[in-house]
Amino acid sequence: MLDNYITAELFNCQQFRLKSIEFNEEISSVQLTYSSQEKVSAVRCPDCGAGVYAQARDTYDLKDMPVFYGIAQTVRAEIHRYQCRDCGKVFTEELGLLRHPGTRITERAAIWLRGLLRFHIPISAISSFTGIRWNTICKIHREYMEEKLQQREKELLERKYKPRYLAIDEFAIHKGHTYATCVMDLEEGDVLWVGKGRSKEAFRTFFEEYDLSLLSEVKAVAMDMNASYHILVEEYLPQAKIVYDRYHMQAQFGKDVLGSVRLEEAKEHRKKSQEYKDALLQETDPVKRKELKTAAEEELHTYSTIKSSRWKLLMSGRKLKGNKAESLKQILSDHSRLALCYAMKEEMCELFELDDPDIAEEKWNAWFNAAKASKIPQLVKFAELKEKRMEGLISHAIYPISTGKLEGFNNKIKVAKRIGYGFRNDDYFFTLIKYLSLPSVRRRFHNFC
Ligand SMILES: [Zn+2]
Repeated sequence: MLDNYITAELFNCQQFRLKSIEFNEEISSVQLTYSSQEKVSAVRCPDCGAGVYAQARDTYDLKDMPVFYGIAQTVRAEIHRYQCRDCGKVFTEELGLLRHPGTRITERAAIWLRGLLRFHIPISAISSFTGIRWNTICKIHREYMEEKLQQREKELLERKYKPRYLAIDEFAIHKGHTYATCVMDLEEGDVLWVGKGRSKEAFRTFFEEYDLSLLSEVKAVAMDMNASYHILVEEYLPQAKIVYDRYHMQAQFGKDVLGSVRLEEAKEHRKKSQEYKDALLQETDPVKRKELKTAAEEELHTYSTIKSSRWKLLMSGRKLKGNKAESLKQILSDHSRLALCYAMKEEMCELFELDDPDIAEEKWNAWFNAAKASKIPQLVKFAELKEKRMEGLISHAIYPISTGKLEGFNNKIKVAKRIGYGFRNDDYFFTLIKYLSLPSVRRRFHNFC
């Protein structure tokens, strides 16, 4: 019955008929042997077209998908070896639809894999329960994804769609040792390009590989100010405005200015605490000893309060409530340098809410001047660096775009890493990232993550 089922359901249209089903001793693998029923009289020499002799039979092994749970399955095809009666050419019978082209797996296994891969199951897991090699699964997956990406490309082309707003950002691959650069269409959400590296020259590949005529409508491009992407955007997309990403700018302010000043202030309190402790060792008067001890403890307490105030300082003042707001207020009222940096941060966030470029220019200028006049080295340095990119900050008032959507896509990149864990092939991984950004996949994706 099993024999009939497998033959009838899966291979009936082929010249192959099931001959035997053999399990190994541990019942951990099974081999289905299929024998070709091809009629020798119907075969012609591919070179001269003459009739052939059947010389012998060859066997060809293909990995198959498991039909029995937990049992890896292989298909052994017994095929003919022919010799031409006329020119003597020796050739073997084609495997036809039995084999998926370019692989050593069955066509039905390829179809089954395509179905399985839609559910974002890690390649290594599929490989271990099918016995199919990692690279073969990637190949099948890539074929499938490229088909979907081409369909999408065709669909957008038919709609005469051209992206207007782009975001460029980098992300870490291979545990942070190497980076990749990603370009996203902010309106449709498609990742247009992913390439290895984050240098200017690495990014140039995008403009060399991508059809530039499709980018003729780009109005603005959001990016991190630190990267050198803007040079190439100016070169290849002169019509587009560069918009510096507010989140990168805020994060950098948080780290280089607020973070650095906060640590300096905190260390100052630790130093004072140590000074009181040192004095305590010399002191003999019990009243003064008690005072010194309390003072040392208080300084240490302030040290740890400031040290742990990172999030309070970074969060928007409007969002902070209750005890946390009180604690922040206390820290700021006791530390004027920190208070000034904090106020500058709050003000900077408001500058990103402006929608009139003239007002934005005026207010950014005022902000930079105030920052430079603060005499706080970290703040002065930050202002001097960012002032050079004023235009990209003002552009935000015209095109309030950011790389935020691309950052959000990072979760999908994490999933991509999980699917292709140990991805040895960057091209495969980059195709996977583009595929995960397709609207149809994004919709389905929400059901699994
Ligand atoms: Zn021949």
